[in-house]
Amino acid sequence: GGAGRYRGRFAPSPTGPLHEGSLVAALASWLDARAYGGDWLVRIEDVDRPRCPAGMDALILSQLSQVGLMPDEPPVWQSAPAQEARYRHALETLVTQRWAYPCACSRKDIAQALAALGGSRERHGELVYPGTCRGGLHGREARAWRLLSTAGLDGAQDLLLSWEDRRLGTQTQNLTREVGDFVLLRADGLWAYQLAVVVDDGWQGITDVVRGEDLTDNTPRQIRLQQLLGLPRPRYLHTPLVMGENGEKLSKQNGAQALDLSDPVNALKRAAARLGLWLDDLAPQASIADVLASAVKAWRTQLVA
Ligand code: GLU
Repeated sequence: GGAGRYRGRFAPSPTGPLHEGSLVAALASWLDARAYGGDWLVRIEDVDRPRCPAGMDALILSQLSQVGLMPDEPPVWQSAPAQEARYRHALETLVTQRWAYPCACSRKDIAQALAALGGSRERHGELVYPGTCRGGLHGREARAWRLLSTAGLDGAQDLLLSWEDRRLGTQTQNLTREVGDFVLLRADGLWAYQLAVVVDDGWQGITDVVRGEDLTDNTPRQIRLQQLLGLPRPRYLHTPLVMGENGEKLSKQNGAQALDLSDPVNALKRAAARLGLWLDDLAPQASIADVLASAVKAWRTQLVA
């Protein structure tokens, strides 16, 4: 697990304002950092620039401050010029080790190769890459860079990864079969989330990742990259998802409402309730600081229980 002083983070992608579900993730990561007497950082994950409308980062930071969640260090933007060299360096390290390889396949190429193999494997709408370019490009032009998902460089053995989630317990994934060789640098020239998040958690010294359960199955990819890049593995806690009235998880994609911050105390109370925190010591006129203090106490109790 992560060593040294606790450093946690909230890492929103500014594709839209915070909604009730993302406030729950933000609050959980903040509470955990406070409960352990650590630092809480905010990282704006805007590598996918085209999906991030202008001003959304500022809006998210303002929403966080309206509910009293203030980062202990200035926020970091993945689009900042200094970041490019970090991501590039990580990719070069993986290329030198031969774990990363260039890929010339379009989506259509991948679908055709999979059909020829007799059926495709799909995961969240993504095709599991059949490894066409593992053996080289054969004169085709590189579009993207992928990570070899097998246990060894010869590709002979599947890679099984096990890890402990603080809430969900032991998790296991066959990275080779369930995910396949995943993209590090996209065909459109943008860095993939998996690479950026690992590089940034690494240089920022993040010891504890607390985030929504929808991200759980990214964790083995991130652990694999940490292993290959020689980065420490943080502890992981994936928080329960907030479900909307239709029984689907709340997300920007399915039209979750922006947070109603006309009553920030109430918004915080609702987020705490969704984390199963029982704030029974609150006066009717409780302030944001009162709610946060009470929630930290309840979070600590939950950690011991
Ligand atoms: N930026 C990612 C998202 O908003 C979360 C990254 C993370 O917490 O690891 O979905």
